Amino acid sequence: MTTPLELTRAEMRALGDRALEMVIHHFATRRELHTATTITQVDAVARLHTELPETPTSPEQLLDILARDVFPNSFHADHPRFYAFVPSPTNFVSAVADFLISGHNLFAGHWLASSAASQIELTVLEWLCTLCGFPAGSSGIFVSGGSMANLSAIVTAREVKMGAHDARAVIYCSDQTHSSLFKALRVLGFSREQRRVIPTDSELRLDVPALRLAIEADIAAGLRPLCVVANAGTTNTGAIDPLSDIADVCAAHDVWMHVDGAYGAAATLTPRGRELLAGIERADSITLDPHKWLFQSYELGCLLVRDPRHLVHAFHVGDDNHADYLADVARHVQENVNFYDRGIQLTRSAKAIKLWLSMRAFGLPAFRSAIESGFAQAEHAETWLRASGVWQIVTPAQMGIVTFRYAEAGLSAGQVDAATARAVDRMRLDGHALIMSTMLGDRPALRMCTIHPSGTLGDVESSLARLEQFQTEEAALERAGGTLGTRD
Ligand SMILES: *Cc1c(COP(=O)(O)O)cnc(C)c1O
Repeated sequence: MTTPLELTRAEMRALGDRALEMVIHHFATRRELHTATTITQVDAVARLHTELPETPTSPEQLLDILARDVFPNSFHADHPRFYAFVPSPTNFVSAVADFLISGHNLFAGHWLASSAASQIELTVLEWLCTLCGFPAGSSGIFVSGGSMANLSAIVTAREVKMGAHDARAVIYCSDQTHSSLFKALRVLGFSREQRRVIPTDSELRLDVPALRLAIEADIAAGLRPLCVVANAGTTNTGAIDPLSDIADVCAAHDVWMHVDGAYGAAATLTPRGRELLAGIERADSITLDPHKWLFQSYELGCLLVRDPRHLVHAFHVGDDNHADYLADVARHVQENVNFYDRGIQLTRSAKAIKLWLSMRAFGLPAFRSAIESGFAQAEHAETWLRASGVWQIVTPAQMGIVTFRYAEAGLSAGQVDAATARAVDRMRLDGHALIMSTMLGDRPALRMCTIHPSGTLGDVESSLARLEQFQTEEAALERAGGTLGTRD
């Protein structure tokens, strides 16, 4: 009689070999993939939908389905010419770590169950704190991503500064802040009246005098400024808020300073990033997403805190409503770290291991030059665009991001924007590279985020040349339409 859900060694080897080969093949050929494929729902249902599987199917056959129908029909955020959103240039060592982590299925919720893995998590958190300039004793927790890290930061700020929800609490951030913060505020029960979206200056950095005025006005009105969320590399343009000035304002009013460095904080690995992000070390908490600019597979975000006791204060469920089934755990491990006490999850995987494995395996210099490549590619894109003569730079290369707009004379803004929207669609369908747009100053702007370390300057050039061809053709159509009197 066979045991349910078990494979023999030979079966495991066959399946594992096949899966390993698929992943090796992916890493070896990913730059040849179409960057961004989407299928229709009708097509997806036809390929993939089945009823509940009462009869087994051979895993080999199922891997064929994944290889043929699933993996290709997606955006490849790990493609070297994927420049949209925030790319996710993963590395093979982390992918192997993911397999090892789930293969061993370590429970990383408390010290008793995962003492060694907890130590790895503590060590890696200490590395990241050191890179961000946090003092000895600072720490944090790994979570699924920046959204969870930002949410956990606001909970921590609230519990530490106020101890309970208070309808008078106010949160401040710039108009360039990532939408995950607003989602977090909604989840946590903050009303729209409890948030102040502060305007940005010409470089899209939070306007500190406006912040100061807003805080003073709120205090005068009897409200309680709770937290300022500062950007350390906005998703839109890579803008970095004036971190030191914001730290001064926060210190003056006893306000929690959270830095959203989900995208940019990893740049502290490089001398240049460290300089750009000066002041980040004065934050109370920092969001950093290793699944972005630290080249890890999803889902790996983290929240770093100056004082880890603040996390425990925020998330430890006290003796009045303790979990009886965790009594043994609590009794044994008073002096150690229970990660369930530092965040929302009880059951959690030991995913810090993948950052540990890849950082140790490659060493810091490899990561450093991988990040520097991101800066260099965006700068090269800016140089290319300026040289071409038909583009206007909207925001210069900054933290691996450049934004720009077609600027040939003779077209209205509306015509340029319409042509740009079609050029973006053509880029996506073409598949050579993915470049998309964002809204800047109430108008679409093209945007490239160039953090893939396998991306070359040649990739940047070939991608921009293709975009320029599409944009120019679409602009010509607009112009022709105008001549025919069919457009304003
Ligand atoms: C990506 C991003 C987030 C959200 O992070 P997820 O990992 O997608 O949840 C938050 N803030 C910034 C600045 C980001 O770039």
